[in-house]
Amino acid sequence: MRIVVVGGGISGLAAAYRLVEQGAEVVLVEQSGRLGGKLHTVELAGGPVDLGAEAFALRDPAGRPSAAVELAGAVGLADEVVYPAIGRAALAVGGRLRPMPAGTLMGVPGDPAALDGVAAVADRDRDAGRPLLGPDEDVAVGALVRARFGDEVADRLVDPMLGGVYAGRADGLSLATTMPGLAATCRREHTLTGAVRAALADRPANSGPIFGTILGGVGRLVARVVDRLDGADIRLGLPVRAITPAGTGWRVTVGSTREPETIDADAVILATPAAPAARLLGEIESGAGARVGVLDYASVALVTLALPEFELPQLSGLLVPASEGYAIKAATFFDRKWAHLGRPGVTLVRTSLGRYGDERVLQRDDDGLIGLARADLGALLGRPLPEPIEARVQRWGGALPQYAPGHLDRVAAARSVLPATVALAGAAYDGVGIPACVRSGQTAADRVLEGLKS
Ligand SMILES: Cc1cc2nc3c(=O)[nH]c(=O)nc-3n(C[C@H](O)[C@H](O)[C@H](O)COP(=O)(O)OP(=O)(O)OC[C@H]3O[C@@H](n4cnc5c(N)ncnc54)[C@H](O)[C@@H]3O)c2cc1C
Repeated sequence: MRIVVVGGGISGLAAAYRLVEQGAEVVLVEQSGRLGGKLHTVELAGGPVDLGAEAFALRDPAGRPSAAVELAGAVGLADEVVYPAIGRAALAVGGRLRPMPAGTLMGVPGDPAALDGVAAVADRDRDAGRPLLGPDEDVAVGALVRARFGDEVADRLVDPMLGGVYAGRADGLSLATTMPGLAATCRREHTLTGAVRAALADRPANSGPIFGTILGGVGRLVARVVDRLDGADIRLGLPVRAITPAGTGWRVTVGSTREPETIDADAVILATPAAPAARLLGEIESGAGARVGVLDYASVALVTLALPEFELPQLSGLLVPASEGYAIKAATFFDRKWAHLGRPGVTLVRTSLGRYGDERVLQRDDDGLIGLARADLGALLGRPLPEPIEARVQRWGGALPQYAPGHLDRVAAARSVLPATVALAGAAYDGVGIPACVRSGQTAADRVLEGLKS
């Protein structure tokens, strides 16, 4: 029973780990020379630094340990999960850094009167006389917030919060996918204020930290999972080019077009971004491929600066609404947020540039991006930043899925027509965060194991 997993990001690795646990023969094929995908830890200025994902949610929506925490525990890293020293970020509004208002869900306020002047609230959130959303209805987060609270709440609060996760705009992102808890309460409440309060009340009570990371970087989670893939055949630097039916299983063509190789498999798991998955689905089930292929992505660049010791506010970082006119959309004060990243004489900050639909800034070369990141952050902090000791630009082209309204239905429809020995896993389908990707990989593994039994 041989199962090919295509893609060695955290979703593919979680799938492979589950399959190996269940005794399956696994071939994991990754086109790049490195495992981990968007989890990538390197050395900078004498210590580790994450160039992609830096943390993961500690709990799932029901309040249980998240799939990422469970996976970290399973590979022996439970004692090396660490928590932020500072959880408070600021919002750059009107040239000032303002505390992020409390009592919001991704910036959508439960008490619009408590926004403390950060955004003017339109007085339009009247009783709709029926639930805000029908049973299967989905809507763009921006459309809902603009209709009920006005543009400033959408532009100054919700957009930067969602942009911090998806590099996307609230006007294009699905409520049901990006904020499922709020979508659920919108199906029973008649006002958005009521829906936010109900969603906040539905959340399991827990005063602990929301996010954690691994001492030494999330790359250590990747390395540990890989160490435990006993007997799995891991092939790096080999793109999967085609998957075609062969007998009762599949023939997977890998490698260069001049020297292709084939691997026969009883089942396959596609754990790549949407575009390659859609291509590979072409000869499996083209209807599913077409549905998967509509997913669009945002590109971002992260500029990490190791500065000579520099006084920063006691914040984990800041978010910058697009309407403020800066190129950077967020900054993380790495060694303030994560005590373990402190290194003597160095201040470590990471800025992020690039928004969905406005990615021209990413055409600059690395020096141009470093200069822009320094200039913008200096202007926001009111003091020029010193020349960095080291700087690193990491570009993530087409990296963050833009879940448009109706995403969940499209994914369900694509999956419903797939043969039982083919599964889709990853950020293209089930959520962008590491825990969602881990869970997605595990579920895909369970699906094909079940499919093989029947
Ligand atoms: C800049 C950035 C910061 C982020 N920060 C966080 C964070 O702090 N916390 C959090 O929870 N999430 C974060 N995320 C999101 C999270 O990191 C990703 O959603 C997640 O890692 C995606 O995992 P994946 O395995 O689904 O996909 P990927 O990591 O994209 O892996 C897919 C793999 O498939 C391979 N592949 C593609 N095509 C082929 C092919 N034809 N053949 C073989 N292999 C192929 C790719 O090379 C890649 O390695 C961040 C994302 C980005 C871009």
